[in-house]
Amino acid sequence: MKKQSQSTKVKFASGENIPLELHKVRVVQKLNLVPIERRLEAIREAGFNTFQLSTRDVFLDMLTDSGTNAMSDRQVAAMNHADDAYAGSQSFDRFKEAVAKVFGKKYLLPAHQGRAAENILAKAFIKQDSILPMNYHFTTTLAHIMLNGGKVIEILCDDAIQIKSKNPFKGNIDIKKLEKVIAENGVEKIPFIRMEASTNLIGGQPFSIANMREVRKVADKNGLIVVLDASLIGENAYFIKHREEEFKDASVGDIILAMCDLADIVYFSARKVTSSRGGGICTNDEKLYKIMKPLIPVYEGFFTYGGISVREIEAMAVGMMETIDETVISQSPSFIEYLVEQLELHGIPVVTPAGGLGCHVDAMGFLPHVPQTEYPAGALAAAFYLVSGVRGMERGTISSIRDENGNDILADVELLRLAMPRRVFTLSQVKYVEDRLRWLYKNRDLVGGLKFVSEPPVLRFFDGRLEATSDWPEKLMKKFREDFGDSL
Ligand SMILES: *Cc1c(COP(=O)(O)O)cnc(C)c1O
Repeated sequence: MKKQSQSTKVKFASGENIPLELHKVRVVQKLNLVPIERRLEAIREAGFNTFQLSTRDVFLDMLTDSGTNAMSDRQVAAMNHADDAYAGSQSFDRFKEAVAKVFGKKYLLPAHQGRAAENILAKAFIKQDSILPMNYHFTTTLAHIMLNGGKVIEILCDDAIQIKSKNPFKGNIDIKKLEKVIAENGVEKIPFIRMEASTNLIGGQPFSIANMREVRKVADKNGLIVVLDASLIGENAYFIKHREEEFKDASVGDIILAMCDLADIVYFSARKVTSSRGGGICTNDEKLYKIMKPLIPVYEGFFTYGGISVREIEAMAVGMMETIDETVISQSPSFIEYLVEQLELHGIPVVTPAGGLGCHVDAMGFLPHVPQTEYPAGALAAAFYLVSGVRGMERGTISSIRDENGNDILADVELLRLAMPRRVFTLSQVKYVEDRLRWLYKNRDLVGGLKFVSEPPVLRFFDGRLEATSDWPEKLMKKFREDFGDSL
């Protein structure tokens, strides 16, 4: 790689590893920290499901990084010169230009968010009994593949789902497993190989370029297509820069281009990648583009807006360019790394190495007395909300599905995900998260399990309702009052 890019890390004379904000706050939004008595009512009203909480009752919203990242002044400014033509909008031209520069793909199809792009891909390529090898599924990816009759096969390396690891690239595909899946099923059954950047459900873990090159080789040998889910590509590129020797002097922009160059189709949720709304699918292969294109007006909207407001399209165009700015991209992973380091220091089980997207607390390690059938990650999310007002997300068996016999398919890992939206929180807020988690860890024996009271058939984690298996929430609240007095 030609240009040498400068480090965005600032050293402290004290030697402390403190992530420094390389931006200032210009517009603020007031937060609510309601007393624990109200939080207990609120989590009960929410059916012990943090998705069902109102932000009226939430202090720090660490549910997701989806659509919750801070926008830049430039993005907000760009929204004011949007062109709201139904067809031929210049806003779309600017978006397309940015995608061509950042992802290196000239054909672009808009989709209203990441899962809408997945719907288009599934409708275009997946048939009954299709086999989809991938590093790991994402919830909405799995739903679209299954609804279209396909089957997901996860081919991560064996240590990828170990909570504690030194493997810098837990998102890598195991090439031997990939070859085996192809040999056993035959190429005709495989519409594409999917690689997800910063593998979301296993803790925002990246893959390496070296691995993606290997995947590309296998794909070429077998005439298979490689699809890259680039929703979290900036963070994956950041980790490649800091963890893969070959790229230590490369810019994040160069790395993103190198990643996309190895894929035939790149799709993304702009809710994450650009701090805005929307999504898209891009490729340089005209044939593939033409297969997907007719589906856009059916499911999304005309080719130059695809269900996205033109104001958002302008913000996406600017946000896309900001993705290659390391001072923008480094903020979330460096805050996550800080929180992970602090929690580890106090013996709290967290996924390591620190990944992108959020800090992932190992609920089975945190609550070893709660059986997996009583949803330890869901219980931990509810308990942590109760004692802090911080809303995280369950990423465990509640986010999984049931088998044909109605039994839970137990998740590989039970995680409480504390998402770190880009440039939203301050370090003292992160310290508060650390403090309340440490308190909860000390009092972890008080936390019990959950059971379902109502459960929708698809994506049940969004609006399923649960209840506590005992009066543990009351006991936890009582202990909180003993220790914190009348503090919020
Ligand atoms: C969020 C996400 C999606 C889905 O995107 P939405 O915009 O929420 O529909 C797909 N893949 C990955 C890896 C994601 O993180």
